[in-house]
Amino acid sequence: MNGEKRDDCMEQMEQKLISIAVPVYNEQDNIDVLHQEIVRYMEPLPYRFELIFVDDGSRDATPLVLDRLTQQDARVRALILARNYGFQTALTCGMENADGAAVITMDGDLQHPPSLLPELIRRWEAGAEVVQTIRKDTEGASLLKKWTSRFFYKMINVISKIHITEGGSDFRLLDRKVVLSFRRFGERAKFIRGIISSIGYRQEFVYFVAPPRMAGVSKFSLGKMLHFALDGITAYSKLPLRIAFYMGLLLGLGSFFLLGHVLFIKFFTEEAVPGWATTSASVFLLGGLQLVGLGIVGEYVGRIFEEVKGRPLYLVRDELRKK
Ligand code: UDP
Ligand code: MG
Repeated sequence: MNGEKRDDCMEQMEQKLISIAVPVYNEQDNIDVLHQEIVRYMEPLPYRFELIFVDDGSRDATPLVLDRLTQQDARVRALILARNYGFQTALTCGMENADGAAVITMDGDLQHPPSLLPELIRRWEAGAEVVQTIRKDTEGASLLKKWTSRFFYKMINVISKIHITEGGSDFRLLDRKVVLSFRRFGERAKFIRGIISSIGYRQEFVYFVAPPRMAGVSKFSLGKMLHFALDGITAYSKLPLRIAFYMGLLLGLGSFFLLGHVLFIKFFTEEAVPGWATTSASVFLLGGLQLVGLGIVGEYVGRIFEEVKGRPLYLVRDELRKK
């Protein structure tokens, strides 16, 4: 090896590693383009990088595409999960398996533009430890999705102690220190946006407009979104439990006065009170409220149950990398 070549080699060894983790679920037509785009923006930078795909139990050709890609490019690795665990879990798996000095997470459908990568890294070089991107708008998103998303952020900011900026996405850069801290958060139902926004460190924001997804369809049904929202609320707020308690208190006091009223009528007046309407109405009301309260308690107890079982968060069926 001549001197110059060895210098090149040494220089490469000394370069810091940046990890990019991408959860993918049925994204067979997006992976190659995403890979090309990431290479295009990462190669000119003075860093080594690894691209980690986490296949979240895809049922299309995604694992095959990943198998081919990992053989073509040694910088690409893929973890194939045993089944579909959901986006947050796949993302967690990516962050737990990334070795870089900085770890970037992004979607696999090109809604998180790879052209922003150099900017995220520049902020990190300048000292930011969390570079969080904020979606100003999503081109082509339905009004329903925009509206429910806005409502969710408003609500969670009102009822919990944390503040999540509206439009906060899971496209962000984390310094290794933050990734190691994140790994210590033991909860299973991870609401990553909440954890990151409450984790502290030096945070900076980068704004962008998300383009429509490139190929395929959104994997988030209304049901999944609701579940995601519920995870966020129950992870960061005890307010629903308190509401049930206060409602009970209020009704308890109310019925105390009602009892006084009933006793007064019985002992001091001659009125015959038929009162069946009020009786049945209050039975319904109380029954309903009790069920709501029970449901809320049940939701939290169910989550405790999930946590204490202590099952592994995910199982990896296969790890693909260049042989
Ligand atoms: N995703 C995943 N597991 C799932 C659902 C989605 O890994 O169960 C991935 C998906 O492949 C994509 C990212 O999560 O890379 C975001 O999903 P999607 O684009 O469907 O969400 P949207 O942009 O519509 O909110
Ligand atoms: Mg998307």
